[in-house]
Amino acid sequence: MIQALAFLTVLAVVVYFSFSKYRQIWLAIQLGQSENISGAAASRWKNMLLFALGQRKMFAKPVSGIFHAFIYLAFIFTQIETIEILVDGVSGNHRFFANKIGFLYPLLINTIEWLSILALIATIIFLWRRNVSKVRRFQSAELKGWPFKDANMILLGEIVLIVSIMMMNGAYQYLQIQQPDIYPDGGRFYLSSQFTLPLFESSLQDIAVFSERFFWWLHVLVIFGFIVYLPYSKHLHIFLAFPNSYFADTNERGRMKNIPEIQNEVRGMFGLEAVATEESKGYFGASDIHQMGWRNILQAFSCTECGRCTAVCPANLTGKKLSPRKIMMDIRDRSEELVKKSAFQKAENGEIEITDGKSLFDRISKEEIYACTSCNACVEACPVLINPLQPILELRRYDILMNSGGPPEWLPVFNSLETNQCVWAMTDSRTQWSQNS
Ligand code: SF4
Ligand code: SF4
Repeated sequence: MIQALAFLTVLAVVVYFSFSKYRQIWLAIQLGQSENISGAAASRWKNMLLFALGQRKMFAKPVSGIFHAFIYLAFIFTQIETIEILVDGVSGNHRFFANKIGFLYPLLINTIEWLSILALIATIIFLWRRNVSKVRRFQSAELKGWPFKDANMILLGEIVLIVSIMMMNGAYQYLQIQQPDIYPDGGRFYLSSQFTLPLFESSLQDIAVFSERFFWWLHVLVIFGFIVYLPYSKHLHIFLAFPNSYFADTNERGRMKNIPEIQNEVRGMFGLEAVATEESKGYFGASDIHQMGWRNILQAFSCTECGRCTAVCPANLTGKKLSPRKIMMDIRDRSEELVKKSAFQKAENGEIEITDGKSLFDRISKEEIYACTSCNACVEACPVLINPLQPILELRRYDILMNSGGPPEWLPVFNSLETNQCVWAMTDSRTQWSQNS
């Protein structure tokens, strides 16, 4: 009874504290422009199964891909165990499913134990790569401070989780023999019977009883801690990778969205009929969150900060300031800033107006956006189908079309496009030029 009450109290605290933050993320995504995502349902499901569930792109780097898969599989299987923990917590019992699902129970627990040990090895290797061998993609400027600590905190949390599973199982196995009327028989757990059970055989039974409950609670509290912590962390990708890969762009890579107003101007130049357009938004491209598509914002919250995009970015590799990972992190941070500080208001027509006088250009410099070669290498590399190129192009469009910005070296190109409809400084119009060639 006391345990059930304590468990429900902790659960209520977890729901209370995590709800507001998850809601903030939901609101931040809602700030984006609506986008038509109808159709292509089959390829969307395929993307989700292959890239979110199947982690396909992770194996482009086989070593880290395999170790990541250990952690991922351990996480998935531990969720099954979490169901039992919830039932036990609310009912105040021990191991609700032991005795009830036959050989499946020890099979499940042994699978979790084996995966947990593999995940422990992977976690230690990941900690080593970040902190000792200092892999280049984890040392960029945007990963200093909180993002660096965030990754380490989750890895350390995983170690506590795994140790608590093994200790809890070891103590339980000892007690299921000693007090079978209280601790139902769950079968033999191979790894914990080898490594942690012996710790309790030579001690007082009370110590085993205390340890079983202590590590059970530790395990529960770490899981609950993850739930509260996840929305503050890049590890939110554990959940968001699924909707993100489902809603990922299914067009050919690198295809740019037309701007209907400009499309019509070009059509006019060629004597073609204008295409039907919706009412003009009054701006081109995007300078802030509310002018981007909601998928860009979902992508920003789904970013794992793995840096695979930055590691292949030719601009970054040649020493330019651009890092596609930083672009996505900036979009996420700006979205959070807007929602957290309520730095926006909705006009009568439903349009969002930003009230803090800031924009994404306060975080992302022009030097960064103009360094992009539009090569799509970042899009290809991203394991969760994020497209950092698209927001870069939207920011560029805004700067060029709304601020008359752009590098001075590009000006002759713009002039030629306007006067000759081609990028070269030719005297003929494009029609004459194409007919003469
Ligand atoms: S598209 Fe731009 S940001 Fe992406 S890899 Fe190429 S240069 Fe870098
Ligand atoms: S955008 Fe993709 S590749 Fe780049 S850091 Fe985020 S998850 Fe990794």
